[in-house]
Amino acid sequence: MNTRVTSTGTPPANVLLEVSHLTKHYPVRKGVFSQVSGQVHAVDDVSFWIAEGETLGLVGESGCGKSTTGKTILKLIDPTAGTIDWRGHRIDQLSGTGMRPYRRELQAVFQDPYSSLNPRMRAADIVAEPIRNFESAAVGEIDERVASLFEKVGLRPDQMVKYPYEFSGGQRQRLGIARALAPRPKLIVCDEPVSALDVSVQAQVINLLMDLQDELGLSYLFVAHDLAVVEHISHRVAVMYLGKIVELTDKRSLFTNPQHPYTEALLSAVPVPDPKIQRKQVILLGDVPSPINPPPGCRFHTRCPYAEERCRVEEPAMKQVRPGHFVACHLRDGSAAAPRAKTV
Ligand code: ADP
Ligand code: MG
Repeated sequence: MNTRVTSTGTPPANVLLEVSHLTKHYPVRKGVFSQVSGQVHAVDDVSFWIAEGETLGLVGESGCGKSTTGKTILKLIDPTAGTIDWRGHRIDQLSGTGMRPYRRELQAVFQDPYSSLNPRMRAADIVAEPIRNFESAAVGEIDERVASLFEKVGLRPDQMVKYPYEFSGGQRQRLGIARALAPRPKLIVCDEPVSALDVSVQAQVINLLMDLQDELGLSYLFVAHDLAVVEHISHRVAVMYLGKIVELTDKRSLFTNPQHPYTEALLSAVPVPDPKIQRKQVILLGDVPSPINPPPGCRFHTRCPYAEERCRVEEPAMKQVRPGHFVACHLRDGSAAAPRAKTV
């Protein structure tokens, strides 16, 4: 039985990915000798897990560290600190060869498929390439798998000979999804996969990802800057602000009972379909501070309408406010008055 307890709860037995205290700082260099003059605190002490067949949404404003989190999981960049466990094996320290058995299982779909798909390769070769790289499959088998992947993602057989520029934005993203599926992954990091698409096409791509999850038992880390985009696809949602996760819970709790003032602010921008449901409107003050010198105490205090003295000096720890609902806010630990709604 699994009895480990992390800062975001006890992972279930079918946990695939576990990220603990993940930190990534980028050096800031200045002058002709490129001396290091500071650090960008892109990701700071981030912990979460993803189970088999589950989608964790990761949301926050641009620059809060979502892509950096995704890239460290994919091992495209090394973390500064923290651990990444993949099916019980630590992968954060692994090099190219050590990572080889796991590389196939972790795939990615990016925001701009045009820049991540080789423009000089035909669509069928783009999808076949990862199969050739990871497996020693016969040519006939590769052709069959590519054809079935085209069908799975809703592309036509005649599109197999086309080049990426001949596809529309939504079709190109379908091609990116087919390529990610080709090596039969267990988890796909979807980094803003629909952010560049028209709203009607966004829904089609999200529905495709959900159908594929049902059919193949996939897990997703689904990154978006907009809460409305993750609402449909996520089982749980983590909200990130300036390098930190400030709230993590199941989708329903997050949308109906948000606990962090930053989540309330993000939700204020999401339209509510039922006019009987009233949402607290929280207007953010000021701009996002620099991640080179993040504010002391709670990183959100400079923009928080409820900030108190304690928030300016003491960093809030992640606490469980209800089973499975975690929040890092001093106003939610019972020792301070509950925040008052600021209605506009
Ligand atoms: P998001 O995906 O949420 O928009 P990112 O993870 O891309 O955020 O970036 C987080 C922070 O790290 C930003 O301040 C960004 O400017 C900085 N950053 C990202 N990549 C690098 C890099 N290679 N070197 C220096 N700073 C970086
Ligand atoms: Mg990003």
